[in-house]
Amino acid sequence: MLSFEKSKKAFKESSKYLPGGVNSPVRAFKNVGGDPLFIKKGVGSHIFDIDDNEYIDYVLSWGPLILGHADQKVVADLQAAVAKGTSYGAPTLLETELAKKIQKIVPSLQMMRMVSSGTEATMSAIRLARGYTHRDKIVKFIGNYHGHSDSLLVDAGSGVATFNDIHEAPGVPKNLAYDTLTVDYNDINGIKKVFKTHGNEIACVIVEPIAGNMGVIPGTREFLQTLRELTTESGSLLIFDEVMSGFRAAFHGAQSLYQIVPDLTTLGKVVGGGLPVGVFGGRKDIMQWITPEGPVYHAGTLSGNPLAMTGGISTLDQLNEDLYKEMVARTDYLAAGIKQAAVSHHVALTVHHVGTMWSYFFNAGPVNNFEDVQKSNVDYFAKFFNLLLQHGIYTAPSQFETNFMSSKHTKEDIERTILAFNTAFDEMGE
Ligand code: PLP
Repeated sequence: MLSFEKSKKAFKESSKYLPGGVNSPVRAFKNVGGDPLFIKKGVGSHIFDIDDNEYIDYVLSWGPLILGHADQKVVADLQAAVAKGTSYGAPTLLETELAKKIQKIVPSLQMMRMVSSGTEATMSAIRLARGYTHRDKIVKFIGNYHGHSDSLLVDAGSGVATFNDIHEAPGVPKNLAYDTLTVDYNDINGIKKVFKTHGNEIACVIVEPIAGNMGVIPGTREFLQTLRELTTESGSLLIFDEVMSGFRAAFHGAQSLYQIVPDLTTLGKVVGGGLPVGVFGGRKDIMQWITPEGPVYHAGTLSGNPLAMTGGISTLDQLNEDLYKEMVARTDYLAAGIKQAAVSHHVALTVHHVGTMWSYFFNAGPVNNFEDVQKSNVDYFAKFFNLLLQHGIYTAPSQFETNFMSSKHTKEDIERTILAFNTAFDEMGE
């Protein structure tokens, strides 16, 4: 048995100062019955906790670290950047450089603005949509998570689904929540009904084209196509929230897989390579509504911060189609190994994976929306998660989250992970 003594002690201490001992609820192990591990370093695909236990890491800081921990070039570029100062509050060449790189990979971002988190990106994108359309209502899907701004916290996935009743959002003014209409994910009739009643009041539809905040659930082509058509017909905007799926579901994002062009896109996670970066962007005629060019206010002391831009540039510079082929092949292999382990142990398991995103549900499936995810056996998940941990595999501590692959995960890492799944299934049966 691994010892977690130092982490336990650290958690006791942190809980005196930080609510729940953490700075983001998803880091707590509350729902898998334990205390979170305190991490002291990461190297490639591995992380080390303060008790000196080593794990193969599939959380990867919840997605950003597509090049693994402490990638040599990213570290060297950041070291060079920090020596020149940490922030100027004035334009730098780095912001345009990162913008150009992003546009080359996701061309629908004709113009964009840098922010410091995914939450800021989605919050600003819906404000822009409301300003541009002169409408107040927005549509989101149950179990999709777009960060923690007021309008978007309604019926949200991720930590909200892990810890709360998602239909309650304490602290969000009722009047604001009233303007957020929610529909089941992948429910074509549901969204058509909403547009029939409210079509000319809707500023935007925001959607995770590949949902990753209730485990991985891909949007169906018909569903996403319907969103494109309904928004175009009614004069509202379609926002693809690719904070997670961007550079993850595919090199060019989920929008390249479906060949559907949204009006606006939000990015985060990989785009900062582990530093705080979010981006919202899209059609030039819409983005020109942002201050100081247009009337919709947006600002940020640290927006476009030189270190954050360097993290993004250094990461995107190293991504290419060949690297994705390798990472996706490894993800496919891992998913097949996990599925096979479940089949040979007669466990009902549904495995979903798209690009470098993967998750599994203790659920016979199909899993197409939040209601389906809720049928999963979360008690089994909690026990299984802890067994994986004991075998040196660090996965997301919730049934409602996604795991990731990096360029540093080796064939040996994957084989060890599949073996750990088999062993854990054996132990669950005992
Ligand atoms: N949108 C999506 C799809 C996300 O997955 C997340 C975070 O997990 C966010 C927005 C919020 O991003 P951040 O945590 O950087 O604020």
